[in-house]
Amino acid sequence: MAGGTAPRAHHSACAIKNPPYSASRARSAAVQKQVTLTAFSEITPSAPIATEAHGWKAKCLQRLVRLELPVPQSVALPAATIRALAQGQPVDASAILAHFGTDQTAGPLVSVRASPANPDWGGPATILNIGLNAARHAALCETHGREAADALWCRFIQGYAINVARLDPDMFEDVRPGPDALRELRRLYEYETDEPFPEDPARQLSEVLRSMARAWEGTSARLLRSAKGAPEDAALGLVVQEMAQGIGQGISGSGVIQFVDSVTGQNRITGRYLGQSQGRDALAAREALYLTRDPRGPSLEEEAPEIMQDLIRMGAACRAKLREEMQIEFTVEDGRLSVLDAIRVTRSVRAGLKIAVALAEDGVIPKSEAVLRVEPRALSELLHHQVDPRGIRDVIATGIAASPGAATGRLVFTSEAAQASAARGEQCILVRRETAPEDIRGMHSAAAVLTERGGMTSHAAVIARGLGLPAVVGASDLRLDGKDRKLTARDGRIFREGDIITIDGSRGEALAGAAEMLPPALDDSFRQLLTWADEFRDIGVRANADTPSDAATARNFNAEGIGLCRTEHMFFEEDRFTVMREMIFADTSADRASALSRLLPMQREDFVQLFNIMQGLPVCIRLFDPPLHEFLPASREGLRELAEALDRPLSEVTRRAEALREVNPMLGMRGVRLGVVLPEIYDMQAQAIFEATIESARRGAVIVPEVMIPLVSAAREVELVKTRIDAVAAAVRTRANADFDYRLGVMVETPRACLRAGEIAQHAAFLSFGTNDLTQMTYGLSRDDAGRFMNTYVQQGVFPEDPFHILDQDGVGELLLIGAERGRETRQELRLSICGEHGGDPLSIAFCRAAGFDYVSCSPYRVPMARLAAAHLALGEHASR
Ligand code: PEP
Ligand code: MG
Repeated sequence: MAGGTAPRAHHSACAIKNPPYSASRARSAAVQKQVTLTAFSEITPSAPIATEAHGWKAKCLQRLVRLELPVPQSVALPAATIRALAQGQPVDASAILAHFGTDQTAGPLVSVRASPANPDWGGPATILNIGLNAARHAALCETHGREAADALWCRFIQGYAINVARLDPDMFEDVRPGPDALRELRRLYEYETDEPFPEDPARQLSEVLRSMARAWEGTSARLLRSAKGAPEDAALGLVVQEMAQGIGQGISGSGVIQFVDSVTGQNRITGRYLGQSQGRDALAAREALYLTRDPRGPSLEEEAPEIMQDLIRMGAACRAKLREEMQIEFTVEDGRLSVLDAIRVTRSVRAGLKIAVALAEDGVIPKSEAVLRVEPRALSELLHHQVDPRGIRDVIATGIAASPGAATGRLVFTSEAAQASAARGEQCILVRRETAPEDIRGMHSAAAVLTERGGMTSHAAVIARGLGLPAVVGASDLRLDGKDRKLTARDGRIFREGDIITIDGSRGEALAGAAEMLPPALDDSFRQLLTWADEFRDIGVRANADTPSDAATARNFNAEGIGLCRTEHMFFEEDRFTVMREMIFADTSADRASALSRLLPMQREDFVQLFNIMQGLPVCIRLFDPPLHEFLPASREGLRELAEALDRPLSEVTRRAEALREVNPMLGMRGVRLGVVLPEIYDMQAQAIFEATIESARRGAVIVPEVMIPLVSAAREVELVKTRIDAVAAAVRTRANADFDYRLGVMVETPRACLRAGEIAQHAAFLSFGTNDLTQMTYGLSRDDAGRFMNTYVQQGVFPEDPFHILDQDGVGELLLIGAERGRETRQELRLSICGEHGGDPLSIAFCRAAGFDYVSCSPYRVPMARLAAAHLALGEHASR
């Protein structure tokens, strides 16, 4: 670099010549001695090229050179030089050109390519044909013919004018290709810049380098790359490369080739080739050739089979040695093949997974690396249908992306309509202000759910995730009119019952009409990757599963057991709902016992089925938790139907329902409080669990059921419930003349339970942290209503994230640590777990693992992500040791 401030150039003394370019290298060796203080390195196998200093592309080119691929001679300018350039220091471009043997009138043309440290960070566009001037144009006319020479120079002038002189691209729109184009372009350039187009190759190159350096520092480039995770001080290197023309006699042209499909990851050669072209022209040209034989048109394979063979061989070498699927940019000049560049094939999540597994199966990378190459959160894209990212999105409402996946269907506004729709075999989208337990059957019938209110752990969100149903909740920009069965979108459009919409639960959007979809990708590669993940992880992963179908999903995703079975969900089935209501309305203990005795066989059958599906894996059953009034109808019509079903006067039913209503039900008669006040319910559930255990053992599935008490805040609550459950167990053993084991544990969902975990652990074999309620109670923040202001809170930085979504490690996390420590002080072998929604989130899994928890439990559809995240944590720790 001029001025003597830059470090000395480190040209490699042992530059290995790539055969096709030996002539120019011989020239460059001669001029090397004259090179002044310019910091650049020839890209040779042994040159000290580093990604941090010279960028990813320079390093990649060096790897290609090491593979002895025919890469045109290239030099790398380090980031320090480019930074100095951007700050106004001049570059000694003649020294660089001299390296290629280029002077004012002779020698090859060059291109300049951006080389950021990470290929995803973008960078200024490649500029080709630097060095073209009148003298070289004349020479090209001789060797390549007038038309080709004109086309090259036109291209260079236009590229230079737009990218370097920063002229408006629109100015050149009217210039038609042809004999006058060159003159017209030069005229336009001179008119706009007040100076002739530069003839001096060194000036051309130094201006190109300077403009690329400045473009990198521009505001929009900074914003774009920081959105892709680039640090504030991300640096750019540049590569100057001898042009391989792609234009000329014999077979000449350029193209791009890759060996896997970017969307599916399947092995498939894709790309295009265009005769008499340069750079990536082939990708845009309609007349470009296919690469392999194709019914749609002629192919390179037919025109030049030996070149295709070479490309396939080079692709295989890249894959094996660069340990990656690469897209190769190539040029053919008079039948001679050059590789100009190779970039990592862009890929969808499903393609990325398939590629990683295939590389490991072929022994190119270790299994651990394949596991680490797939981002756990991205897996949810593979488990469900997705809106095709290439399609049009007509967004009518936005909300919280509560449950991933996408579905299209006709709008319905009630659970009954959803059930009717399912009975007709029609997909529907259930839209509600918010859902309540009585909507469960409607949700089961719907293809997706949209609610106006609610947050990440509201009823709709939790149930939808459990069912694997796409859901958007808290879509407060839509207006819902349940009475007239219509919803008004944010732009005023009205949608009525029967209209078709699409719910994108991965993005939190509702779209008008039927969007294009991509199907789930639960294929062999997916299963293989997760099997490998299981070999590395060191924390258990169970599923929250309430029904046999949830349990089957959990098994299918290889959950190691059920960590939370919310038994109340079993009572929303048609046949039990009324009996449950009868039980709630019972006046006397005897009436209640009679209703419970009708529920008993149904519950027992539920557990037999669960145990059967889980085949000896642990099953943790939570005793009844919600406030009883959730089982009562809210509307007058519902109350009338109930009065009819119970054969009681409407006034009495209404009075009883009123009496059960609580001002603050989530802090009222629910959880263990019901167990203490109305112990017959837990007695019935315990009996059902134990009888099912005996029944399963007879069928060959030996189970040690885990019985979990919800919403505990005092040790005495556990003591009382435990005494009764032990008594039920003893009675069942005697009656059946059979033995079984069970474990009794506590769900830690109140701050007090964390603080008093030492006492509580005296009566509990395990503690499972219910972080949904624990978050609600720690913040004093309703999990069902927080959606209304959560966005504002997060936007204004009050909370860094929605704490119902991402575990609040500072507050709720501290309570978890206190609970875990105090519990284990009392009982060393105490098993610890988390079963709130956070159990499926990678950051929360990291927290629980660090705190020594035994397992996490999450919705069945989040199990794969949890397995992979846990493997990443174990592998990360291993690597940092
Ligand atoms: C919890 O509170 O974290 C929990 C898992 O229970 P639920 O969501 O059923 O209240
Ligand atoms: Mg709870």
